[in-house]
Amino acid sequence: MAQSAFQRATVEPRKEVKAGAEKRARLRRQMYLAQMVSFILDAAILYLYTLSGTISVSGSAWYVAAGLGWTAMALILSELHFNDRFQDHYLTVPQSLGSIGILLAAIYFIPEVGFYFACIIFVVLGFGALRMSARQTGIVWAYAAIGLTAVFTLTNQPIAMPMGSHAERHLALLCFVTALGRCAFTGLYGASLREALYKRGNELKLAHAKIEELAQIDELTGVLNRRYIMRALNDEMARAQRAGTPCSVAILDVDFFKRINDAYGHPTGDEVLRGVAMTLAANMRVIDKLGRYGGEEFLAVMPLNSKDRARSAMDRLRQIVSELDWDPISDDLRVTFSAGIAQVRPNDAPEDILARADAALYRAKDAGRNKVMAG
Ligand code: GH3
Ligand code: MG
Ligand code: MG
Repeated sequence: MAQSAFQRATVEPRKEVKAGAEKRARLRRQMYLAQMVSFILDAAILYLYTLSGTISVSGSAWYVAAGLGWTAMALILSELHFNDRFQDHYLTVPQSLGSIGILLAAIYFIPEVGFYFACIIFVVLGFGALRMSARQTGIVWAYAAIGLTAVFTLTNQPIAMPMGSHAERHLALLCFVTALGRCAFTGLYGASLREALYKRGNELKLAHAKIEELAQIDELTGVLNRRYIMRALNDEMARAQRAGTPCSVAILDVDFFKRINDAYGHPTGDEVLRGVAMTLAANMRVIDKLGRYGGEEFLAVMPLNSKDRARSAMDRLRQIVSELDWDPISDDLRVTFSAGIAQVRPNDAPEDILARADAALYRAKDAGRNKVMAG
């Protein structure tokens, strides 16, 4: 069954909201997977440390289990769309606090390679700060600082990065290189966020320009709408009165337009209006403004034109329109317009000049139509 406009208006936003939620869940999934890869990388490094005899297997196993378990829980909550209830759907603060908590515990329980975990805290805080406010970053930093203080005071074991053996020396190198890689990834992630924001800003700018343009335009004919042509009239009148320069206006009215509608139908009438408007706009000066004043009436504002010059310009337009070829609609269709012109006077208000132009239009109609008269 066809949807009514009301149904479309109410159903479609819901669809959009759902698509947005799916997209957010996909982005989070990518982030959690990256986090899991990071813990697996740690697992591999810790495994190598167990092989070299630096740490015990159980010590490294709980760290990997805690890391993967924490990330899996976050992923499940994310897939259940729990995160969508919060403004920051990444839940960056609890995520950072959880990860830093696990790293602090790792420093405490595996101090033999504690230096490595401290390096990873840098990465977690740097990554989180990309999405956090200054206040949130401050909170997470304070939490990490207090946590480190606690760990440093609770254990008197050295928090180390052993390099006694050849293997340990190479493992230390591996730790630094992978930590550096994660720093680089964080930087790239920040750059991609900035790029996305820049793109979004440009899209908004374009959308705004489009809305501005649409707000000025008469949908049917493509010329200015009544509100904007009246604004142009006000502006140009004020400018002419201030500068003492001439400015003229013309009201144009399509002749016997009702007959065109009656003979060919309303849609054809619309087509004729569009054709006339486009012809007028295409043959006016760039500084002239043309708008739809009413049904089949247009208003032209012609700055720097005296009444006489406006009259001859309008007469030329009248000639052009009267000679338009309407064959695609009908062989014997002929479209003309009549126009009334008036020139701005020093103390005119818009109503005054429009009244004079209207009176001149009335005389043009009275004189047999397809005429231009100046008031
Ligand atoms: P005149 O030469 O005296 O101006 O005669 P006219 O028939 O043009 O004037 P009238 O005011 O009697 O009729 C204007 C018609 O324009 C009536 C109205 O239905 C039609 N009209 C107004 N707006 C539109 C529109 O957007 N599209 C179409 N197709 N017709 C319109
Ligand atoms: Mg009319
Ligand atoms: Mg008319």
